[in-house]
Amino acid sequence: MLADAVPGVPDEVDLLVCGAGAGGMTAALVAALEGLQVVVCEKTDQVGGTTSTSGGTTWVPGTHLSDQAGVPDTVAAAREFLNHVVANRSGVRLREAFLQSGPEAIEELDRLTDVKFVAAVAHPDYLDGPGSAYGGRALAPLAFDGRLLGREDFDRVRPPRREFLGLGGMMVGRNELDGLLNPLRSSANFRSAVTIVSRYLRDRASYRRGTRLLMGNALVARLLYSLRKAHVPVLFQTSVKELIIEEGRVVGAVFDSASGPRQIRARKGVVLATGGICWNRKIRERLFPAGARGYALAPVSNTGDGADVALAAGAGFEDGGDSPALWMPCSSYHRADGSRAVWPHIILDRAKPGLLAVNRAGRRFVNESDSYHDFSMGQIRDGSMPAHLVCDAAFMKRYGMGMILPGAKNLRPMVRAGYVIEAKTVLELAAKIGADPDTLAKTIEAYNQSAETGVDEAFGRGGSVVNRFNGDPRAQPNPCIGPVETAPFYAVAVWPADLASSAGLSGDEFGRVLNEAGEPMIGLYACGNDLASIFRGTYPGPGTTLGPAVVFGWRVAKHAAGKLSDRPSHFGATANERTENATL
Ligand SMILES: Cc1cc2nc3c(=O)[nH]c(=O)nc-3n(C[C@H](O)[C@H](O)[C@H](O)COP(=O)(O)OP(=O)(O)OC[C@H]3O[C@@H](n4cnc5c(N)ncnc54)[C@H](O)[C@@H]3O)c2cc1C
Repeated sequence: MLADAVPGVPDEVDLLVCGAGAGGMTAALVAALEGLQVVVCEKTDQVGGTTSTSGGTTWVPGTHLSDQAGVPDTVAAAREFLNHVVANRSGVRLREAFLQSGPEAIEELDRLTDVKFVAAVAHPDYLDGPGSAYGGRALAPLAFDGRLLGREDFDRVRPPRREFLGLGGMMVGRNELDGLLNPLRSSANFRSAVTIVSRYLRDRASYRRGTRLLMGNALVARLLYSLRKAHVPVLFQTSVKELIIEEGRVVGAVFDSASGPRQIRARKGVVLATGGICWNRKIRERLFPAGARGYALAPVSNTGDGADVALAAGAGFEDGGDSPALWMPCSSYHRADGSRAVWPHIILDRAKPGLLAVNRAGRRFVNESDSYHDFSMGQIRDGSMPAHLVCDAAFMKRYGMGMILPGAKNLRPMVRAGYVIEAKTVLELAAKIGADPDTLAKTIEAYNQSAETGVDEAFGRGGSVVNRFNGDPRAQPNPCIGPVETAPFYAVAVWPADLASSAGLSGDEFGRVLNEAGEPMIGLYACGNDLASIFRGTYPGPGTTLGPAVVFGWRVAKHAAGKLSDRPSHFGATANERTENATL
């Protein structure tokens, strides 16, 4: 257990931030830059929450980073895209606020702090449509050298998911996988593998895990490093339990801490950033479809406390539009030590040629190459939980599936653990997964025919930019479809697991929490997953939750500092939007 005492933290500050993930830490950092006295109260003994286990991709359109990367993006194009994807679902003012502040928020963080990103040249939006982007919009946190934090703070950064670490503690970037898996394929691969592994081995002489931090872990470490430089205290093991309300204003909060209950008052506001509804049993049972309640990808300590304390004070709550959560299809098994390993099928296997997903009947039900969220929405609509990802021996060797890496020599342990189901024939596989044998055989036959023609008449697989981006260009005529024909055949069961909340507290464009009557609760803000998703259950592109978490963290802080009122729209909105945006 890490020590939690921070000497000299006053009982009254300007801004009181509950939760040290991307949303809360951004709000705290920006508020400190604005000269506010801030404290961050974190429930666990580490910062980072789900953010630290994430890809860290942050969707912010129209930033200077897109220009720097040579793939200029504009807010106007993103507005057109969102009008197409999110269409007339509610929340247009919040989306407009996000669009308008995004470039400024990122520019300011880049200039004034160590929270630095780079725009991906190629990381397409998840849906096609007017204004969609191939590159420039998805921002990746720059890798961070964890040694800069010092050993104590390094240990304060929540590690990534165990399943995603190599050699027991080494982070690996998407573009480094090939080098590590095939070091002898080229001299570049060999050099890359030697550099990464030798750095890791050096690290392990002094640290519990590798200090080369990437993705969500880099974002969290950068935020913590910047908070330290700005002298913002973080109180660990300090969990918000109740809001203090006086004369209709939220003026502070009560916390459980290791040394007992503690009150902290806030002159300018309390920010709820506790990571969303995640493991909140009551809300899960009320809103989530049966069959999709079993796994959440957030740390178990994210129990929806922000929603609970705000609801107890009369806050409004939104059910998330199209979906209460944003999803990833996940497979799972029990490790030898009894713990459960959960693998989100994000990009490495689903979109590749030669894999298909079938429901209990043995039929396909979705375009397997669509985004993880859209795949899972298809699964939820179909009602088959679990569904099975199916492939053959050639696919398994080339791409791997879930926790089985490409080229894995011995699948026995994973078969024995019940993770992967193996069969000599398609009919045997059907029997083992409980599907109708004839139906599964026909499904695979039809799929194999579409591999020849390149046309997936049922679901249009390979038809969108993101489908093809995650496919394999070596497969022709369709990079997402290939034959399933070489025994043995394999299946892995998948369930939808929430990677983020979509349902959450009602808020306005300043991140102020609204009460049940739709009026701002003075002194109460929310950001990150505690605020209902501004995309209302749709998933426009990579970084759909961290983009708004960072931008609304910034907006909340600016509003609390008195820097955001009455700003006119300045991005060429339509006449109607101009009226609605008059106070952005
Ligand atoms: C595998 C995976 C990959 C992902 N990749 C991406 C991606 O690339 N891009 C993207 O946009 N999204 C991604 N996501 C989703 C994203 O990680 C989350 O939506 C985001 O991190 C939520 O940020 P947050 O600040 O709201 O919450 P969190 O990061 O979870 O932080 C909340 C913090 O609040 C603390 N807390 C909880 N209760 C209390 C309390 N009572 N008092 C005080 N503190 C409390 C928690 O301990 C935690 O530290 C991914 C998710 C997963 C699981």
